[in-house]
Amino acid sequence: MDMEKLVSLCKRRGFIFPSSEIYGGLNGFWDYGPLGVELKRNIKEAWWQDNVRSRDDMVGLDCSIIMNPKVWEASGHVGGFSDPMVDCRETKDRYRADQLYVFKFELPAGPLMVAVAGGTAQDAKDSLDERLSKLGNKNALPIKKKDLPTPSVITYTELPEVDRILVIGPTATSAGSLTEPRQFNLMFSTNVGALADASSKAYLRPETAQGIFANFKNVCDTGRVKLPFGIAQIGKSFRNEITPRNFIFRSREFEQMEIEFFCHPSEAAQWYAYWRKARFDWYVRHGLQSGRLRLRDHDPDELAFYSTATADIEYEFPFGTSELEGIAHRGDYDLSQHTKFSGKDLSYFDEEKKERYLPHVIEPSAGADRATLAFLCEAYQEDEMGGETRTVLKFHPRLAPIKAAVFPLVKKDGMPEKGEKIYRDLKRHFNVFFDEKGAIGRRYRRQDEAGTPLGITIDGQTLEDDTVTFRDRDTGRQWRVPSAGVVQAVRDLVEPSTDA
Ligand code: ATP
Repeated sequence: MDMEKLVSLCKRRGFIFPSSEIYGGLNGFWDYGPLGVELKRNIKEAWWQDNVRSRDDMVGLDCSIIMNPKVWEASGHVGGFSDPMVDCRETKDRYRADQLYVFKFELPAGPLMVAVAGGTAQDAKDSLDERLSKLGNKNALPIKKKDLPTPSVITYTELPEVDRILVIGPTATSAGSLTEPRQFNLMFSTNVGALADASSKAYLRPETAQGIFANFKNVCDTGRVKLPFGIAQIGKSFRNEITPRNFIFRSREFEQMEIEFFCHPSEAAQWYAYWRKARFDWYVRHGLQSGRLRLRDHDPDELAFYSTATADIEYEFPFGTSELEGIAHRGDYDLSQHTKFSGKDLSYFDEEKKERYLPHVIEPSAGADRATLAFLCEAYQEDEMGGETRTVLKFHPRLAPIKAAVFPLVKKDGMPEKGEKIYRDLKRHFNVFFDEKGAIGRRYRRQDEAGTPLGITIDGQTLEDDTVTFRDRDTGRQWRVPSAGVVQAVRDLVEPSTDA
């Protein structure tokens, strides 16, 4: 699937627009249009329903985006939350050092080093040929492109310092324009109150998780919860990403769906295994093909120092296989840090075990925008129906922005009135659409592109026996349903049991 086609469909049909587009947009920020907001909301609601409301061991929370800045000292974000960054003095472009791939060609006159920016080594490899052609056109290659030997590849971070001067930047024409990697804090800062000085400095949260830890004691004190239990939160997070890219995959303002699951240290490994599987299965249940999903366990050298195990759920996006969600076994790191920095006792007294301890935490941390993008990529298909090529979004009915569209076949014989009545009845329960204009085939196609699972047509036969035609988005199959049973029939189709 071609990302450009998806991005253009999203724009054309009102799923996703560049933010403040009439002013030229702002890199790393996106707006959700009328269809997009429904899709993303359905994803968040499905997540909330399945992880919070339907469980006995989970409660929800909605914390402020700006918190006491000490929270971010305790969590380590003030000190450590930064990516090494490289600037190009020639073109003023900026890159993440760990995502800058340097291709080294050994030539008789000395090495030729060409840097290419990419989310993964494969992305960089895929763009190398085009990059070399551009350099060739500018006479910036010492020999013809076709005579170059096979290169070795290494990231700019790993490249020995003495070699950095030899590198031609991803958009530069000569070597030596890239700076040394420099630390760059990803948190957006602001000032709270009238004075803009160091004492009023605060941050926009870069994750929702810390609001949960900061409220752990409050939630325990409400008396509703007993270990093991989790606290869930959905909300906006902000990171001043150096290279926002791949549509809504990496943006600077995004939404997270996070769970902190607290348990006895002796049960943490078991809960980690549970959440690792539960979260993978959730995506599969909502339509992501398991063949395109992968659970990748972090190597020991990738783990944060406090984590004993972390796994990423990755999805095969058109631009490469990348993280959708991370599940981390965080031990008691967060609660012990907040105990230390706040001076408050955050330990838990276990009535059953008659024991006081600092709970361990399993954190399934998902991105609502990345999930939206994965569901869009998975749903997008071009197929043949009725001898025509069509574009269709095959969303799981639970996630589809519009559940059904009502079409009076012609604008006479009472069909519009009958259609209007059915539309009104349905609209009390579902997001539905009414369309009485144009050829019926065209109306079907437009709903296929919006991902609407059901078409409901009022036709000649409706006037005779009070039945309507149902049409299935994916197969085009049609069948008749009595008018009086339409609401129930739609409910049966769009609210299938999602229990595993
Ligand atoms: P990456 O390595 O891709 O930057 P991360 O490992 O830093 O991600 P986490 O800090 O684990 O991400 O955040 C948890 C989840 O939040 C991610 O799995 C992702 O779904 C989402 N997320 C993180 N950063 C972004 C972003 N810039 N844009 C959109 N979603 C994001």
